[in-house]
Amino acid sequence: MARKSKGNNSVTIYPDWCKGCGICVEFCPQKVLGLNDQGKATVVREANCIRCGFCELHCPDFAIVVKNKEEPVEVEMENGTPKPKAKAKPKAKGKGA
Ligand code: SF4
Ligand code: SF4
Repeated sequence: MARKSKGNNSVTIYPDWCKGCGICVEFCPQKVLGLNDQGKATVVREANCIRCGFCELHCPDFAIVVKNKEEPVEVEMENGTPKPKAKAKPKAKGKGA
């Protein structure tokens, strides 16, 4: 994901999926995220987000979506609840020689 300028990015966290591991909070280069009193990730300084994509890429529970503010957040629903995005599968290895 290309790095984008501050102030035009939207960070959405799905608290039902967040297990509060703190990876996103610890490694966000702009300190955009924090943990709330329920131990879930929350957005504290959205205007600082540079859309580097680290949090979205490394969240083990697919609980973060980072978008340009003009783009709608597309979340697939399944039985009335948001469905996690599928991460890209690693390329299949050849069978060898
Ligand atoms: S990385 Fe994901 S699961 Fe961990 S605290 Fe952040 S949003 Fe929650
Ligand atoms: S995209 Fe980068 S700057 Fe924005 S919240 Fe995630 S880790 Fe922080």
